[in-house]
Amino acid sequence: MNVLVLVDHDAGTPKKISNQILTAARAVGGGEVHAVVLGQGATASAEKVAAYGVSKAFVWDNPDADAFATEPMTAALVAALEQSDAMILLYPADPFITDVVARAAVRVEAGVVTDATDLELDGDTMIATKAIFGGEMSSRCQVRQGRPQFIGVKANAFTAEEGGGAESECQVVGLDVTLDDKARRAEVVDTVEQEAGGRPEMTEASFIVAGGRGLGDAEGFKLIEELADALGAAVGASRAATDAGWYPHQHQIGQTGKTVAPQLYVGAGISGAIQHRAGMQTSQTIVAINKDADAPIFSIADFAVVGDLYKVLPPLIEEIRKRK
Ligand SMILES: Cc1cc2nc3c(=O)[nH]c(=O)nc-3n(C[C@H](O)[C@H](O)[C@H](O)COP(=O)(O)OP(=O)(O)OC[C@H]3O[C@@H](n4cnc5c(N)ncnc54)[C@H](O)[C@@H]3O)c2cc1C
Repeated sequence: MNVLVLVDHDAGTPKKISNQILTAARAVGGGEVHAVVLGQGATASAEKVAAYGVSKAFVWDNPDADAFATEPMTAALVAALEQSDAMILLYPADPFITDVVARAAVRVEAGVVTDATDLELDGDTMIATKAIFGGEMSSRCQVRQGRPQFIGVKANAFTAEEGGGAESECQVVGLDVTLDDKARRAEVVDTVEQEAGGRPEMTEASFIVAGGRGLGDAEGFKLIEELADALGAAVGASRAATDAGWYPHQHQIGQTGKTVAPQLYVGAGISGAIQHRAGMQTSQTIVAINKDADAPIFSIADFAVVGDLYKVLPPLIEEIRKRK
């Protein structure tokens, strides 16, 4: 009952979500953990995932993966599945990877469960828990048709921990992938890097400071950014704030935004609607600042500050700066 993990990486460095999924694959037990690593830098990434207990890595380190849209990567994934004896494929629930995986699942006629937040092995079946209705309920799902069982795992559902392996113990298998003209139909003609600024990326950050409609206007985010910079945190926002154009959409946290689980989440002027909570409720420590003592966010907050954020945040920022 081997488990294959599709590793997402940044040209040679596995992303945090990949390490989290490898840790989860090891924890559910069953058999060996194998990896499939595709695209430029795959060889270097495969060496690094060995530390997470990977005993075999299927690698396709080829510039075609980045030169064209999802088709070459799909062909490489299907090639890996043909060589692998794994009963389960775990993959990161990222938009690009999901596109690749959906195509591969159709080709091998296997069922897919998306957005899992917990995994449990029942015989030769993986039971995936996923949140539904904006996190109000959870459902347990299994793939009933086809092999392997495809299961997408959400970011930050698990904590990454090295263990169970070393580079020397990992067998690297190079994939032989033949691309036809169809795989080259959509070419990548330009790539624009999103400006990251000096702050960490939200899904990778240990601390997040988020602002909502209670800020009153876009200017209010300057205060959120000041606190974020004092803490070395990423900046998040509620949908009300991003829809109002106060902050870019890629910072939205929640059901239709990003799921985060930092060590510390500070939310100011955010009511805590279920769609927002669905994206941050697994944060380790939640601090909420709201002038309404009945705001729903207080029901999940570890520290509740009832007050005007414009009175609470400036002395807080000053105090943090003093202590640094
Ligand atoms: C299908 C669907 C998907 C959605 N997806 C998301 C999602 O992914 N993420 C998301 O965030 N939302 C999402 N929403 C929207 C969600 O329902 C809420 O409308 C939204 O989260 C509200 O944002 P908010 O908390 O900033 O604003 P509000 O609900 O208006 O809350 C503002 C809060 O600020 C407080 N406040 C006001 N002034 C101050 C002050 N000076 N000091 C302190 N506190 C103050 C108020 O008391 C209030 O609690 C979704 C909705 C739907 C229907």
